Order: sequence, then C-alpha cells, then structure tokens
Amino acid sequence: MNKVLLIYTGGTIGMILTDKGYAPAYNLLDDMLNKIPELHDEKMPLWDFYQLNEVKDSSNIGVSDWNSIAGIIQENYLEYDGFVVLHGTDTMAYTAAALSFMFENLNKPVVLTGSQIPLNELRNDAKDNLITSMIIASEGIANEVCIYFGGNLIRGNRATKYSSEGLIAFVSPNYPLLAEAAIKIHYFNNITQSSPVTEPLNVQFLEEWPIAVIKVYPGIDFRYYHDILNKNYKGVIIETFGAGNIPGGSSNFISSIELNENDTIYVICSQCPAGSVIIGQYEASAVFDNIGGVSGMDMTTEAAMAKLYYLFSKGYARDNILRIMNENLRGELSR
Ligand code: ASP
Repeated sequence: MNKVLLIYTGGTIGMILTDKGYAPAYNLLDDMLNKIPELHDEKMPLWDFYQLNEVKDSSNIGVSDWNSIAGIIQENYLEYDGFVVLHGTDTMAYTAAALSFMFENLNKPVVLTGSQIPLNELRNDAKDNLITSMIIASEGIANEVCIYFGGNLIRGNRATKYSSEGLIAFVSPNYPLLAEAAIKIHYFNNITQSSPVTEPLNVQFLEEWPIAVIKVYPGIDFRYYHDILNKNYKGVIIETFGAGNIPGGSSNFISSIELNENDTIYVICSQCPAGSVIIGQYEASAVFDNIGGVSGMDMTTEAAMAKLYYLFSKGYARDNILRIMNENLRGELSR
C-alpha cells in the first residue's frame, strides 16, 4: 500500500472565521481530517500528517518556511511514496517554484494544494483538492513539484495564481497541464523531466538574499528606484511591458544604475502571463542588452525569483548565474 505524507503549512484549507477574518488554527485540521471517512477508504493511500510549528496565512511564508518544508521531505523521503503540501493559495506558486529548484534529483511527487473555501465549511473545494492530491502523490507518475488545484495538475514552477475567487485558482500560461482530473485522472506526456534520476535526492537550502521585484508602469521614473537597483538588492526582477519593454528610452534606466558592489543582477520578466521576453525585439527594451540584463524568457516572476534564490544560495559567480538563468533546470523555461 502506498504511503503519503501530508505537510500542513496553513492557508484557507484549515482556517476558521475569526472576528478579524479568516485565520489559520493550530491543531484543527488534524482533527478534521481524521473525521473524513473518505480519507480512510481502502482505495486511499495510507497517510500521516505533519504540521509545521506555526501554521500561517501564506502571505507570511518565505525562505525559512521553504527550508522547513524541504527539510521535512528530505528527512522522510525514503519512507513515503509522495508528499502533499497543504498551503495557502496566495503564495503557493512561489513556494512550488522554490521547492522545484531546491530538490535536486527529485524522483517522487511533491504536490502542493489548498483551497479557496475552508474544509470546515459546507460547500468547499478543499475535500476534492485534498483527496485527488493524495492520490496523485501516491501514484508516482508526476515525479516533480506540482500544484493540484480545481481539477488541474500544473508544473510548480510554471504556475501563477490567477483568481482570488474562482475554484480554478491557478493557471500555467506557458506550459501545458501535467494532468487533468476528470472522471479519471489523465496524465499527459509532458510530465517527466529531461533525464532519468539515478542520483539520490539532494536539497539545496536557501539563504535570505535581498531580491526585489519592480513592476513597470506608464511614466515610471527609475531614478526613484535608485537604491533598490544599486544599493539594497542583489537581484532585481523587472516586470516589464510585453516582450521586455520600458518607457522613457534607454536613458530612463541607465541614469538610475551605476556599477555597484552588490553586482546587482537584473532579470527582465513580463507583466504578460503568456509569451516570452525577447530583449531587443523593440527599441524600448534595447537598454537591457547594454547593461547586461538577463532575459527571464517565458519564466513566471515567481520562478525567476525562486531561481535567483537558488543560484545565489549555490554560491555561483555572477557570470554563471547570468548564464544559468537562461538554462532549463527544472522545466521552468522553454528552450
Ligand atoms: N490568504 C490565504 C493564504 O494564502 C488564501 C488561501 O489560502 O486561499 O493563506
């Protein structure tokens, strides 16, 4: 019988309504799960439950939580066939992207899920998300970090939260679904990573690097971002228009940057969920060629950020990081 470890980090799935709004409750979910008869059905995998020391709204989840989740999976890797991480939807795509890089030689499913409606409410999406994720985690077909939500299985580092209301909360604009849960669970051919895994699992834990995101808007004056671009951050993701464009011509950006001791890396992503950044396709992006900005290609902002954390934590030199940002490590970009 296959065995799955459920790791509860917080999120709406286990929240209760307080006088300040929905908030996570410690020890509540464990009890509730034990009372759901379907979870003890003979067709379900065996499962154990692990709760993080502090359960959180996912808006409070960051590097230290990513390290905790990865550490728990590493410690229990040989004992279980797969892992389900119960997580809030707000930053689930960031956590999924981070874990996808942190696990080197992953050969088992790590499925993140949660819900838009708490499990303890009459109408909810929590029960199906949970049960289907547990089955997917136990089947050992999608052996990568993924998000299951609202019937869709998505590669973790391709996902982005799309709806704060709908029950299909995530999309994967630049990569097809890994599987679709209809009457049956249909896996598609694109689930396997490039090379067969022969090496044991290794986890690259992350450090708290200063990484920022700047969203470009009409009329942006980059001089106001001088400290972010030069002094305070080691990596800055610039969410540009379309294929990499910014307003104000080259001088707008160039006048705001200088050679700096951080050797800040600028990653050029797009506000368009679908399509790719192509630096130099328009004159309005040419500046990034001149200052050595690296194209985020068709990576999500979440994936670009997670990849920077990973590459900085690996201790790679700047030139290597610039090169590897454009290499496909975990299926996060199309090449
Ligand atoms: N604020 C919640 C969270 O991300 C939203 C959710 O879980 O759907 O934790």
